[in-house]
Amino acid sequence: MPRISRKAESFSESVIREMTRLAALHSTPERPVVNLAQGFPDFPAPAEVKEAAVRAIRDDVNQYAITWGAKGFRDAIAGKLDRHYGWRVDPETELTVTCGATEGMIASLMAVIDPGDEVVVFEPFYENYGPDAVLSGAVPSYVTLEPGDGFALDPERLEAAVTPRTRGIVVNSPNNPTGKVFTRAELEVIRDLCVRHDLVAFTDDIYEHITYGAAHVPLATLEGMAERTCAINALSKTFSVTGWRVGWVVAPAALTAGIRKVHDFLTVGAAAPLQAAGAVACGLGDDYFAGLAAFYQVRRDLLCDALEGVGLPPIVPDGAYYAMADCSAFAPDDLAFTKRLITEVGLAVVPGSSFFHAGDQRGSQLVRFAFCKQLPTLERAVERLQAVRTW
Ligand code: GLN
Repeated sequence: MPRISRKAESFSESVIREMTRLAALHSTPERPVVNLAQGFPDFPAPAEVKEAAVRAIRDDVNQYAITWGAKGFRDAIAGKLDRHYGWRVDPETELTVTCGATEGMIASLMAVIDPGDEVVVFEPFYENYGPDAVLSGAVPSYVTLEPGDGFALDPERLEAAVTPRTRGIVVNSPNNPTGKVFTRAELEVIRDLCVRHDLVAFTDDIYEHITYGAAHVPLATLEGMAERTCAINALSKTFSVTGWRVGWVVAPAALTAGIRKVHDFLTVGAAAPLQAAGAVACGLGDDYFAGLAAFYQVRRDLLCDALEGVGLPPIVPDGAYYAMADCSAFAPDDLAFTKRLITEVGLAVVPGSSFFHAGDQRGSQLVRFAFCKQLPTLERAVERLQAVRTW
């Protein structure tokens, strides 16, 4: 019998995406499951952005764009970075358009990491980083941020994770799943570590505009970091187009040359008409980006108040659109709670253990709720949550 590779064997399918499939499986016409598992918005993209995509298809933008991204789109991304952060990027040599941030991360790791190199990953982590490490040959070294400490960064723990084989560090701020927004002081600790040990930072900045207090600071904009950061981002979250699969990586020219080659042979390029629409999206007025935080804050507060009310104490996020809650009052562990919630109540969430490495128990009391949903969807979820009071 043919068998799959040891690489493919060594990780399991995405729990987040599995939950979406389970949601469909347990849905009936009378009671569709409310999916607060996978973090995709269920509301439309901005009208101008949709129109731009339709227009590009009507105008026959059908063929490959330049493999590292259509010039108009790269220029628009560079313009947005300059407007928002005063971050000057050369779109000719420092930018690669990818098929979503997912490809941006794996292409960056494959371009920079040699098999056996170690990469520091903060835990809890977005589940893709584990398989990303396997596929790129990296050995992950986990630094746990403790829920009880408000996920504060412990500089000593971080330093202790670095060995002579460490080549890089993955930083996701605002963070999925914790909602942590790394402070400038914490980012400076990471910067100093990267400079001291000659590390490359792989930053997943996809929730950059979704913050409820202090603004997001891209690690690449700290002095000394532009030359050693692969900054990964996408249209997905900011413009509510997760299915378009359009993202990008900003990296110094020498690393970009490697990332562009890997990207070319992985996927050739992202969808050309959607890149044309991406140029319009990145050029939207400041009010659009500023409005995102307020839009999500209403949803965060609605969900977190309800979680508190039913006895699932949430860790209220400072950014991104997820809330972790303690389910230990209602089930022996996160998997049992998640299963019961989806089958009995018709509500899908993600078990906390999928954000920790295998064998670590710290996620087993937690579940993750995504609140990037229309208010009626969230209200339905809150209504269904009331059932756990009787468990
Ligand atoms: N980032 C989103 C989440 O954490 C979606 C993940 C995905 O399915 N690509 O839910």
